[in-house]
Amino acid sequence: SITLNKVAFSYGETGVDFDLAIEPASITTVMGPSGAGKSTLLNLIAGFELPRSGRVLIGGTDVTATPPSERPVSMVFQENNLFAHLTVEQNVGLGRSPALRLTDADRAAIAEALDRTGLGDKPKRLPRELSGGERQRVALARVLVRDRPVLLLDEPFASLGPSLREDMVDLVKALQPERGMTVVFVTHQPEDARRIGGNMVFLDRGTVAAIGETVTFFTKDGPAAFRDYIGFDA
Ligand code: ATP
Ligand code: MG
Repeated sequence: SITLNKVAFSYGETGVDFDLAIEPASITTVMGPSGAGKSTLLNLIAGFELPRSGRVLIGGTDVTATPPSERPVSMVFQENNLFAHLTVEQNVGLGRSPALRLTDADRAAIAEALDRTGLGDKPKRLPRELSGGERQRVALARVLVRDRPVLLLDEPFASLGPSLREDMVDLVKALQPERGMTVVFVTHQPEDARRIGGNMVFLDRGTVAAIGETVTFFTKDGPAAFRDYIGFDA
């Protein structure tokens, strides 16, 4: 499980306060207005930011107690950072070996990840020769080959068109039971949340405004703040 135990954090005067638990082997969608703290939440879970007070535990262990390269987490960022001088397959390979010393098993895992993200025909391209959506898919393929138990996705599909976004959401949804991962998925798209199912955390002004099963968020019994946000009336 992932537990944020009375976690407080601030950038200067903007602060967040999170107290929540995420079940192991589940999918949680995080939604909320821009600036609500969605990326900050993922950065705290990944240990990229340190709480001012409180603790972030993954499987009972404080995330900051583990050196960054050994943490059970991988993340796809809102803006991906691919290496401009490395090809698609090399960028993905970095998820497996930071020095690109790849075994046959690594190569097989890379080929599979490229296939599953629809990049199987572009292994030799450079990032600048890809569309924005293709670059995000390279970043997703890289975390797939890393194969960590916790997968954090910060609006990874925002630049993809609707049908490709559906495909990527379905891919993440299929991976979760396949690998028993705990997935935390930030999105601005209500359709993505409905499609992926699982649980929902709705953030507003740096705190958890509502939490529950995603399916109930989209009924008339859903939290009013969420329904106002997405402009939903049942
Ligand atoms: P978006 O949907 O726009 O990505 P978000 O919900 O991910 O928004 P965060 O990036 O978590 O929001 O930001 C939460 C708050 O913290 C915002 O008020 C933002 O301006 C502030 N903030 C985020 N990063 C920094 C930073 N590096 N320095 C100062 N303030 C920051
Ligand atoms: Mg963000």
